[in-house]
Amino acid sequence: MLLAHKVELRPSREQHEKLLQWVGTTRHCFNNLLSNFSKEGVKFSKKIAREYLYNTLRVENEWYSDVSQVILQESINDLESSYKRFFKKLGGYPRFKKRGSKDSFSIRDKTKFKVDGRNLYLEKFNKGRKAKPLKLREKLRFEGIPKQVTISYRNGKWWASILIKGCSNYKGSFPQSGEVGIDLGIKDLATLSDGTTFQKSNKLSKSLKRLQRKQRVLSKKKKGSNRYAKAKLSISKLHLRIKNQREALLHNVSHAITSKYKTICLEDLSISSMTKSKNKSLNRMILDVGMYELRRQLEYKSFLRGVDIYFVDRYYPSSKIHNECGFKNDTLKLGESSWKCSNCGQLVDRDLNASKNILEEGTKHLHV
Ligand SMILES: [Zn+2]
Repeated sequence: MLLAHKVELRPSREQHEKLLQWVGTTRHCFNNLLSNFSKEGVKFSKKIAREYLYNTLRVENEWYSDVSQVILQESINDLESSYKRFFKKLGGYPRFKKRGSKDSFSIRDKTKFKVDGRNLYLEKFNKGRKAKPLKLREKLRFEGIPKQVTISYRNGKWWASILIKGCSNYKGSFPQSGEVGIDLGIKDLATLSDGTTFQKSNKLSKSLKRLQRKQRVLSKKKKGSNRYAKAKLSISKLHLRIKNQREALLHNVSHAITSKYKTICLEDLSISSMTKSKNKSLNRMILDVGMYELRRQLEYKSFLRGVDIYFVDRYYPSSKIHNECGFKNDTLKLGESSWKCSNCGQLVDRDLNASKNILEEGTKHLHV
């Protein structure tokens, strides 16, 4: 199983310049290869591309030798896949790369880079006795063999996306017992059948409110003006921050759950029902994305830790059945967070009740 972990890099001033140089060399190489194959009568082939790289580009541009040769070969692969897409009519003719758009380079050879704790070493990048490794903002979340790394520059920040071949020796202990049902909700992020709840983060809600405010401001600015561009940039930065805040929160939740219970039951989510509703607020959309992300994380972390995970049919009316007496409340509305059971008179907490039903329904299928 391959798992990707994207971590922010904290390069020094000097490393930042060097990374820009590596990204620039990759772009230069790609664009020159492309312009060579754009000439009339020259057909793309990997062999010709390699020859052109080694016999012409590297000779003409001495600075090519400052970077790892693996990233230059990657430019060839990159161009090849662009051509393949073009010939299969999946995309247009390959385009020249522009500075500032998708600035990145990749190393797809596990012997050419190394991750050690929060240190990242790239072949040729950290050369010399005094050269310092690149600092990752946090350690990798899972153990395994790092297979490839892509370094990218976006919104003024550097990122390392590291692909890891996972093995199940996850750091930390494995849950041996315990079963839980989970209701992913609107009021709380997740409600567990044993009464545990995971709240939404205040930081995240604040960021969302700020985003809405900024978008209102943007709508009043004149398109194409300096102020418009400025507001737009600040929104895209905030989007990124929200994404990171959400991910950090969801990782905490999925970590807590998969390290405590041996069996997890949750509701299968329907993509169509969530995307169907019109006029969805931004808040709501971001929440939906969060649910899918949480589900995805629960799935792969369960796999890594040997946790059984079961998805209850999405048509199972987990909210409507009173878990204690079995009465079905067909008049329950979407916004009701609690209801009075007309059979036994108890006040029912909607999310907690649903999580108990999900557990019951799920274990029924697991224990056959
Ligand atoms: Zn009841």
